[in-house]
Amino acid sequence: MELKQINWVSIFLMGMYQILFLICTPLYFFYRTPSGGLVLTAIVLFFLCGLGITAGYHRLYAHNAYKINKLVETLLLFFGTLAVQGSVLEWSYNHRMHHSYTDTPKDPYNIKRGFWYAHLLWVFDKKNSGYKPEVIPDLIKNKRVMFQSKYYFPLMVGANMGIVVFFGWIFNDYFGALVFLFLMRLIISHQSTGFVNSLAHTWGRKKFLWKQSPADNQIVALLTFGEGYHNYHHAFPSDYRNGIRWYHFDPSKWAIWILHILGLAKNLNTINAYMIKRRMIIEMKEYLLEKIKKHPKAEMIEQRIREMAERLQKGINRMNELTQQYKLYTKEKRERRDIKRELKAAKRGIREEWKSWNRLYRALTQAKPVLIDAQPY
Ligand SMILES: [Zn+2]
Ligand SMILES: [Zn+2]
Repeated sequence: MELKQINWVSIFLMGMYQILFLICTPLYFFYRTPSGGLVLTAIVLFFLCGLGITAGYHRLYAHNAYKINKLVETLLLFFGTLAVQGSVLEWSYNHRMHHSYTDTPKDPYNIKRGFWYAHLLWVFDKKNSGYKPEVIPDLIKNKRVMFQSKYYFPLMVGANMGIVVFFGWIFNDYFGALVFLFLMRLIISHQSTGFVNSLAHTWGRKKFLWKQSPADNQIVALLTFGEGYHNYHHAFPSDYRNGIRWYHFDPSKWAIWILHILGLAKNLNTINAYMIKRRMIIEMKEYLLEKIKKHPKAEMIEQRIREMAERLQKGINRMNELTQQYKLYTKEKRERRDIKRELKAAKRGIREEWKSWNRLYRALTQAKPVLIDAQPY
C-alpha cells in the first residue's frame, strides 16, 4: 500500500482504542474485580452487536435475504452502529463488491493480497472508503439507513458513550463499563468480523464453489458468529442462512427464524434443496474433470464422470418432480400411495448413486467423501 493510499484517520482510531485497551485492562484488574452483572451485560451486548452486523448489516441490508418489522430494523441499526464498523451504506457497498469481484483486484478485502490485508489492513486503504450509489440503489431509498449514514459519526460516538455512562451508573463502575462494554467488546467483535474475510477465505472445504477462496469451516463459524459456512454463502448469498443444516452454528439464522415465528420478520429467502444438490454435483464434476486432465486414461474416466453426474442430476430432477407432485396430491387430498412408493424408490436409487459417485471422487482425489444422503437440506 502506498503512503498516499493510507487512511490515517482509521489507523489513529483503531490504534487508539487498542492502546487504551492494553493500558486500561491490567489497570482495572489491579484495582477492581468486575461484578457478575457487568460481565453478563458485556456478553449480551456483544451478542446483540454481533446480530446488528450479521443479521442486520450483512443479511438484511447487503443481501436482502429477508424483510423485517420497522421497529426491529431500528434496533438492529442501533446495535450495528454500536459495533463501530462504518455506516450501512459503506459496509454494504464494500460487501456487494466483495461478492461480485471475489479474489480479484476489485474485491475490497481481496484475500490474494494476503491474510492480514483481508483481515484488517483493507480498512486502512483509502480506496475502500465511500461508496457508489449504483451498487446500493435499494439502500439509498431506505430512510433509516440514510439517517444513519448522514449522522453516523455522532450516532456511533453518542451510542457508545451512552452505553458506557448508563451501565457505569447502573453498576457503579464507570471504569469497568469502559473496559468491558466498549474496549473489550470492540476488540472481540472486530477480530470476529475480520476472520470472515481472512480465515473463512483460507481454511475449509469447498463443496459449492471450488474455484474461489471462500470455504466452509465449523471452527471458523464459532469464531465468526456463524458466518463460517462461507463457501455456501458465496454460492447462494441471498439465502438467509449460512449454515444450512439446523445444527450448523449460525446464531443469526436462529434469531431471524425466531423473529419470523414471532411475526416480526417475513419473506425469509431459502434456496431449494434440490438446487443446492444440483450445484454440488456440477462443482464436484468440474473439479474432477480438472483433476484428471493429465491422467493416462483421462478420456475413459472423463466419460465415466460425465455419465455418473448426468444420472445423478436426472435422479435429483425426478425426485424434485415427485416431491412437488406429492405436495400437490396432499393439498388436493388425493390418493398418494403410488407416488409415495415411487418417491421411496427414487430416494433409494439416488443414495446408491451417491455412494458410487463418492467412491469415484475419493479414488480420484484421495479426499474425504462428501457426506450427503438423499434427504434434502
Ligand atoms: Zn467472503
Ligand atoms: Zn455476504
